[in-house]
Amino acid sequence: MQPKDLLSLSEQFGSPLYVYDAQKIESQYTRLTSAFSKVNSLRINYAVKALSNISILRLFKNIGAGLDTVSIQEVQLGLHAGFEAEKIIYTPNGVSFEEIEEAAQLGVQINIDNLSVLEHFGTKHPKVPVCIRINPHVMAGGNSNISVGHIDSKFGISIHQMPHILRIVENTGMHINGIHMHTGSDILDIEVFLYAAEILFDAAKNFRELDFLDFGSGFKVPYKKGDIQTDIEELGKKLSKRFNAFEKEYGRALTLAFEPGKFLVSEAGFFLAKVNVVKQTTSTVFAGIDSGFNHLIRPMLYGSQHHIENISNLKGKERFYTVVGYICETDTFANNRRIHEINEGDILCFHNAGAYCFSMSSNYNSRFKPAEVLWYKGKGILIRERETLEDLLKNQVAIDIE
Ligand SMILES: *Cc1c(COP(=O)(O)O)cnc(C)c1O
Repeated sequence: MQPKDLLSLSEQFGSPLYVYDAQKIESQYTRLTSAFSKVNSLRINYAVKALSNISILRLFKNIGAGLDTVSIQEVQLGLHAGFEAEKIIYTPNGVSFEEIEEAAQLGVQINIDNLSVLEHFGTKHPKVPVCIRINPHVMAGGNSNISVGHIDSKFGISIHQMPHILRIVENTGMHINGIHMHTGSDILDIEVFLYAAEILFDAAKNFRELDFLDFGSGFKVPYKKGDIQTDIEELGKKLSKRFNAFEKEYGRALTLAFEPGKFLVSEAGFFLAKVNVVKQTTSTVFAGIDSGFNHLIRPMLYGSQHHIENISNLKGKERFYTVVGYICETDTFANNRRIHEINEGDILCFHNAGAYCFSMSSNYNSRFKPAEVLWYKGKGILIRERETLEDLLKNQVAIDIE
């Protein structure tokens, strides 16, 4: 997508606006499948929570992906978008037993990450095949909020509890058809990933009827120049080789599964916002936009640095700005950032706005959520309307107060 395309979309659909480039999503998907082309059976389950618009889900259906879901509502959205239940894996953490049963009823692949749930589920539904989420205790990644593999993590069943898992499986007669790990959303190092994979292979040997091994996700994408990113091609080469060797040793056809969110959609997304005010203070120049952390919370929540481009003045002189939102508390998108000279009314473009941006947005300060547009075959298609006052009032009950 060119900056001029984005600028014209902001004129056509207004701001703030999320735009997703379908072609970029497809090329990331192809990059991943090509990297693992030597594996006989590969399955990519897109992690819905990254960006859950049903048109995005349909795009993934069209290119042959499955879905990774973490709530019953995501399962329902996937089914609504036209996915067959068999193409959906459900990997909840800390949800009610009833919700897991509901998902099983809908026919999706269940992934269990708790011993007591495993025992309860296996006792009640011994015929439903279940995948087990293992915690291999491999620390991967920089951000402690999204690193989930450490010893005290609430995710997965500890690899050290394998004897307990096996006892439950034997006692209940349940059928384990998959083994899973997801070590967190910030893997820096391929060697760390491969090390965790070895732990998963070892765990897999305990089960005779596996259909798939799921290596989760955690692929890192670059946010700014010089950022480290996961070398997918290198990982593909090394892990495919190990996987194929393991499959032979295991003596049964296995599917290699992944469930990326960020890798598939982060770079395809752009967030466009208009500069309401430029404000000089004693120490800095603020550019205040018509949005805030209600629409894009990652900088405030994770300290993530989204590249910001002034698409209204691409040739302007570069100056230093602190880009802030309109929320009535600290609401900073970028500190002391070099950006082409900003005038009031300019459109700023935030890069890497595909993953965990709209899906984490809220109505804080009673603001409307932005519209979403899919850039598809050279055209901008509205895939979510901007909210209106009716949306804010929709579920509220006004009582008479005397
Ligand atoms: C969030 C999540 C993912 C996706 O992680 P990314 O870093 O966005 O690729 C995959 N699997 C599970 C179980 C998750 O919770």
